Amino acid sequence: MPQPHTLKIVEIFPSIQGEGLRQGEPTIFIRLAGCNLRCSFCDTKYAWQGGRRLSVDLVLKRARDIRKRFPSSWVSVTGGEPYFQDLAALILGLKKDGLKVQVETNGTIFQPLAADWITVSPKPNNYACHPRFRRKAREVKLVVTRALTFETVKRLRQEFPEAAPLLLQPETNAPWSRAKSLRLLDHSLRQGLKNVRVSFQLHKIYNIR
Ligand code: SF4
Repeated sequence: MPQPHTLKIVEIFPSIQGEGLRQGEPTIFIRLAGCNLRCSFCDTKYAWQGGRRLSVDLVLKRARDIRKRFPSSWVSVTGGEPYFQDLAALILGLKKDGLKVQVETNGTIFQPLAADWITVSPKPNNYACHPRFRRKAREVKLVVTRALTFETVKRLRQEFPEAAPLLLQPETNAPWSRAKSLRLLDHSLRQGLKNVRVSFQLHKIYNIR
């Protein structure tokens, strides 16, 4: 008998999207376990390992159950690095259930998916991104770490189409990183880079996850 398709899941919960252009929208989060990177500033280190192996059917049922009390039309598939696992059946199932699907990725591993919204967030040290994401990203989110340079902002701005905003997101909303974000934005404007914006983490201000 064929085994059901399973995924390693850390948590499934309702909240408000705190980052990027979808900021403020009620969203169901499905957090997958595992990541191929180890960023020092990562705020989901608990998702690097572990997780419970659940069938895709059970994950879909959990999302349906949450929607009975939290009727969101969006789901965010996140991690960890969600592309670390085979997402096709999950994404198709969520879409069949009438949900709009966002996937948040560091951009290093590609799978063709029927997602409605792909957020690419390239990470240090080399901010590498699979070329197939370039035409698919709805937004490019850059955590403004101490190591982030204008040259990296410029390179990524050139790699992705201008229609996808490049969002400078301060690391943990910290004052030094907010100041650096403004400096990078100012420099980007003066250098003629298009559609670079500053951003922040809404969920940390509201103190929700
Ligand atoms: S890519 Fe994302 S989940 Fe992975 S270590 Fe970096 S910040 Fe954390």
